[in-house]
Amino acid sequence: MRLRTYFSPAYAPASVPTLARLAVAANELTRLNLVELREPKSVDADMLAGLHDEAYLSAFMKGEEPLASSQGIAWSPELRDATLAMLGGQLEAARHALRHGIAMNLARGFHHAVPSRGSGFCPVNGLALIALRMPQHRIFVVDCDEHGGNGTEEFAARLPNLYTASIFGTRFGCLDGERSWAFEVRVPRDGFAAYRAALHHVQDLLCKYRPDLILYQAGADCHVGDPKSRVGLTTRRLVERDLFVLRAARRLDIPVVVVAAGGYQKASAIATLNVATARCALRVRANDRATRERD
Ligand SMILES: [Zn+2]
Repeated sequence: MRLRTYFSPAYAPASVPTLARLAVAANELTRLNLVELREPKSVDADMLAGLHDEAYLSAFMKGEEPLASSQGIAWSPELRDATLAMLGGQLEAARHALRHGIAMNLARGFHHAVPSRGSGFCPVNGLALIALRMPQHRIFVVDCDEHGGNGTEEFAARLPNLYTASIFGTRFGCLDGERSWAFEVRVPRDGFAAYRAALHHVQDLLCKYRPDLILYQAGADCHVGDPKSRVGLTTRRLVERDLFVLRAARRLDIPVVVVAAGGYQKASAIATLNVATARCALRVRANDRATRERD
């Protein structure tokens, strides 16, 4: 079995280094024959209507400054097109997961983008987009990036079908809010038991709210080798994190979209962590199939 994964060369323009590294992960996942890659159709402006403020969306589509670069990366047509392709991948991954249980988008979730503008290298919030375009489904973001999902938190207060729980080392403005929960854990300071306790708390929330779809932000930037990491998870602990979230989803029978999310080490190191996440997803699915066959 291979993992259905959405990726397009448009996600990774050479002119945007933070995105260019996604291509390295795509190549590695393909070389190891772990994924079945699908190139998504980019979203158009109509699909984004009502997500962010109209003035911001219009500026981002046309490159009108200063709003167009409010996410902190200089706007370019390549950045816009990468964003629209990744958002298309989010929607297609969500549709696939709802039908078949799991999919990955080898993209950023863009969890810092707030309703009025982009922020923190995130132009358009691709997690909130799913909640907006799928109002019939309850969407629960399990955000395990190094940075708190402040943008998604603001969207959760606006979209009644969007829930978000962030476990982070860097708060980034993320506080508890409406349908939003925030857990700051720094393993070197608090110990891994505190991280595990936060995961259990999130699992309790999933049990309580029983969403129709989980969006799992499997951030690689909480890895101990990442220059931005305060969470400080070793590779083994990252695997434990991934397995915990993916197994919780399987036990509760909730489909999952795995989003690669952040990573700031060398591209090859991030690719190794993304590969580990994909292997966890395949392992949980394989166990699931074995259990079904045994029963
Ligand atoms: Zn991050």
